[in-house]
Amino acid sequence: MEHLDLLIIGGGPIGIACGLEAQKKGLRYVIIEKGPIVNSLFNYPINMQFFSSSEKLEIDEIPFISKEAKPKRNEALEYYRRIVTSNKLSIQLFEQVTEVHKNSTGFTVISDKHSYTAAHIIVATGFYDLPNRINVPGEDLPKVSHYYKDPHFYASQKLAVIGASNSAVDAALECYRKGADVTLIIRGSEVGQRVKYWVRPDIINRIKEGSIKAYFNAQVTEIRETELTIDTPEGDIVLENDFVLALTGYMPNFEFLQKLGIILSDDKKKLPQYDPETMETNVEGLYLAGVICGGMETHKWFIENSRVHAKIIIKAILKKNSARVGA
Ligand SMILES: Cc1cc2nc3c(=O)[nH]c(=O)nc-3n(C[C@H](O)[C@H](O)[C@H](O)COP(=O)(O)OP(=O)(O)OC[C@H]3O[C@@H](n4cnc5c(N)ncnc54)[C@H](O)[C@@H]3O)c2cc1C
Repeated sequence: MEHLDLLIIGGGPIGIACGLEAQKKGLRYVIIEKGPIVNSLFNYPINMQFFSSSEKLEIDEIPFISKEAKPKRNEALEYYRRIVTSNKLSIQLFEQVTEVHKNSTGFTVISDKHSYTAAHIIVATGFYDLPNRINVPGEDLPKVSHYYKDPHFYASQKLAVIGASNSAVDAALECYRKGADVTLIIRGSEVGQRVKYWVRPDIINRIKEGSIKAYFNAQVTEIRETELTIDTPEGDIVLENDFVLALTGYMPNFEFLQKLGIILSDDKKKLPQYDPETMETNVEGLYLAGVICGGMETHKWFIENSRVHAKIIIKAILKKNSARVGA
């Protein structure tokens, strides 16, 4: 098998941006993606609307035309799919990278289907695979989910939504409008300040008028088949319950990063070590791109501000290659 210049782990928007840039600069590369093209976006709620306007989600200034200023999930799926297929990007789908070993010529990468060798690696694996668990008894019951897809499922059901951010608020509003009996359980004292500015007044007003019940400064302490218990400032409350959406955020796969030798800060942010000028980590030849760069600060990087990583990294790789040729 040919020795690659670059292997990109993750075929999300940023992995794809890296592949496109590598192709433009004539590098031999492959993107390995464990699911379909832009797997994380594929798994987002079906009616999800981005907070970014479509031009801010564009890769390499390829126009992203959407019906409204803020595109919907299905429009983004179509946009990124067209980037992959129209440019004939080299991408292996439904293939998961399991191991990366450093050697004298670069890296050996092992997936669940093949093995590869490459001089450079980009890790663009995002953060959507691992939910932040709430760690209470009953969390693993089949009625509990950490991912929300479609409001139809919850019609006429007693639904508890845990969380106060965009995902929780979108789910609560959509399900309420499809006839679910929604209770929002919020750990802090208010709806998250980062909730989309055009959605926040909507949820606040639904709570005020009593259409959606909300408990603030409250935490679920146990989930059972037909009810759950929440700890509130007024004491424990037991609610009848059919389904729970625990939408308390997601985190990068830190175990995978550490297995690759990447150093993480030892505070709760778990920031991976990399040089912001090149995106190269403490492991020579291994780069980070996209939202993975933020560690536990998953709101810090998004498509809008991390799509530049592609050009930064490919430039750094080309510079290294030309220094080697010149040496
Ligand atoms: C509900 C929601 C709304 C959002 N709205 C916006 C928005 O409006 N604007 C914005 O800029 N950002 C938004 N974001 C964030 C945005 O989705 C992410 O910034 C974006 O997906 C990051 O792209 P990425 O390529 O870094 O990671 P991802 O899109 O997460 O891609 C990582 C890919 O790596 C793959 N992968 C993981 N591990 C492996 C492995 N071992 N082997 C092979 N493949 C692997 C995954 O399957 C995935 O496809 C939103 C996020 C969420 C959850």
